[in-house]
Amino acid sequence: MKRRSNYSPVIVFETTDPKRLYQLKDFIVHDPDLRGADNIFVYDPWDGLGRVAIGTQGFAVEPYRKTLGQTSPLQQRARLEDGVSFTSLRAVLKEIDQFIKRARTIFVIQNLAEHRESETGLQAALRAWAIDPAVVTKGSTVFLVTADVTRILDEYTRELVLTISVDPSSARERESTIGAVADELQLPLDANRLQQLVMATAGLNLHQLESILLESYFTQHNFQLEAIKRLKSELVKRSGVLEIKEPQSGFADIGGYQAVKDFIRKYVINVLQDAERARRFALPLPKGMLFFGPPGTGKSLFANALASEVGLPFINLVTENIYSKWLGESGQNMKNAIRLAEKMSPAIVFVDEIDRFGKRGQAVADSAGEETRRVFSQFLEWLGTPDREAIIVGTTNVPEHLDEAFTRTGRFDYKIPFLYPGDEARADIMAVHLGITGSGRKSPTPLDMPVPEVLEFLRSEMAPRTVHFSGAELEELVTRAKRLAFDRGAAAVGKSDLLQAASTFRINPAERRLVIENYLAQARRFTDDQTFLDAMASEVGIKI
Ligand code: ATP
Repeated sequence: MKRRSNYSPVIVFETTDPKRLYQLKDFIVHDPDLRGADNIFVYDPWDGLGRVAIGTQGFAVEPYRKTLGQTSPLQQRARLEDGVSFTSLRAVLKEIDQFIKRARTIFVIQNLAEHRESETGLQAALRAWAIDPAVVTKGSTVFLVTADVTRILDEYTRELVLTISVDPSSARERESTIGAVADELQLPLDANRLQQLVMATAGLNLHQLESILLESYFTQHNFQLEAIKRLKSELVKRSGVLEIKEPQSGFADIGGYQAVKDFIRKYVINVLQDAERARRFALPLPKGMLFFGPPGTGKSLFANALASEVGLPFINLVTENIYSKWLGESGQNMKNAIRLAEKMSPAIVFVDEIDRFGKRGQAVADSAGEETRRVFSQFLEWLGTPDREAIIVGTTNVPEHLDEAFTRTGRFDYKIPFLYPGDEARADIMAVHLGITGSGRKSPTPLDMPVPEVLEFLRSEMAPRTVHFSGAELEELVTRAKRLAFDRGAAAVGKSDLLQAASTFRINPAERRLVIENYLAQARRFTDDQTFLDAMASEVGIKI
């Protein structure tokens, strides 16, 4: 249908899934409109040129051979080069050219990862066919199946062909694949488990889905949800651009930051958890958040806890891998990352150091600069997509360097400052890392005094000694105290270990105050919720 509406007889399918290729061929031989074609050819760099024969049982691809009498001198030369079958793409294209203009011909080119235009003339052939009236009137169609069209065709050629990016898999397809594999393995699967599997495998292509199911079956004798999630994250990690991380902790494991927790609970969590009702009230669902503040103040921790609180997958966009040393690849990497993230959504997509994408006034002097710019605008476009399912959480330590395009309204719904924790919060954070408060995921540290006494000690003695420490530094302090207790051969951590650990830090209060001033200025610029700013400021003991 697409072909008819756009009228290019050359169609590119972008996919990496061998199952999709099979589906395409199956479609060609079964579609009432296409199966009547006079010739169906398939070219694969490994198998050479083949001809599709349709039988009662299905279809088969037979190597294409020519009888000597019919060959032209040119084709004979090709034969000399190739033996009996056609393996060189240049010879194949010449051969197909004979058919495609004279009879209704379907030609599928598959598994072409890269090619040298000077040797094959592929782009020249596709361009010629795309605009040749003879090809169109005969109803011939050329399908090029490839993982990445930009590696095969230049921009000019891409304009003349129709590119269709094939989705990895739809929920319905996954459901039927999982059902079929379970049937084959004679595994009972109830409807509830089936739905869980369909959700957990979003973003996988059908080939990957089948491999994962089989691997889980052969190692666990079952479709085990946890194993399947793990196998999926390994697969996704191989893409190089995304990582799925299991949420490690909820809000209970974050010390202090009550104002931020309340803000996020009210505007983000409650709305996401009751999305249907929010829609009825026409309340916008949050799509993007920017967390900014000094290093180690818990921005990543909050993003992770948010995923855990709303029960969504946490996906990390691996920014450093998006920028490739190969010119032209960064754009494709970004495209893949976005496509994959969308397929796995709804999810929290975490983008650390978002300032890498767009720095204010970045020069665009050379082609590498242009490439950076392209990735930036792809990202911006994604950020601005209203029906995006991915909830993007970006972090930065340098909000003042961010390109204005990021901070404009409509890009991020909420921009939340993370400052150094206040007195209460510091005591809370140390308590979390000692394992005496929190969700219980951290094992409790042996202490030589009762818990209420520790809590009181943290509040009265430790908090005043750790002014302007970041959450990460407080965590490090607890680790140092444990090491001190261990080194002196003690059975438990005591007050002296904590006091001594605190004294090993060299933190310059004047410097930190400047840092806080700077972030506060940014907070005033970005955040217009005065109640939130006031609550946060009073919590960290600062006047705004
Ligand atoms: P960066 O800007 O350097 O990426 P960040 O603000 O994202 O830093 P995190 O990576 O979230 O900081 O924090 C580092 C570690 O510090 C966390 O893994 C956590 O253990 C600890 N931490 C920070 N803040 C808190 C907190 N409020 N409660 C408990 N632990 C905290």
